Amino acid sequence: MSDCIFCRIVAGELPCRKVYEDEDVYAFHDIRPAAPVHFMIIPKRHIASLAEAGPADAAVLGKILALAGRLAREQGLEEGFRTIINTGRIGCQEVYHLHVHILGGPEPLGGML
Ligand code: IMP
Repeated sequence: MSDCIFCRIVAGELPCRKVYEDEDVYAFHDIRPAAPVHFMIIPKRHIASLAEAGPADAAVLGKILALAGRLAREQGLEEGFRTIINTGRIGCQEVYHLHVHILGGPEPLGGML
């Protein structure tokens, strides 16, 4: 998947501000933050979107969600955060490597769902 920018970030071929890495999961700050703190947690293995995910992906998807609170706290989001997964054209997905956005900051996030 060398044409996938997130696969290239995981492989170390493109720079990023890394938040976390283990054998299954990678997390890094969004290059165009939509909140004071905005990072994404992704599976290392290429899954194009939530629409393509299946039972074989359940463990890594669970791991991502189970990590979210810890990573958010480590990034200073002690009072909460928003999680977003954009899927497909209607979901305005820009990068077709499944990612969970984590957004937060000192004030409540308005103007979003
Ligand atoms: P999507 O709309 O949910 O697909 O979000 C993709 C996100 O990836 C956007 O918020 C982009 O700002 C972000 N993004 C795109 N390229 C890069 C990059 O090279 N590094 C970090 N974030 C990126």
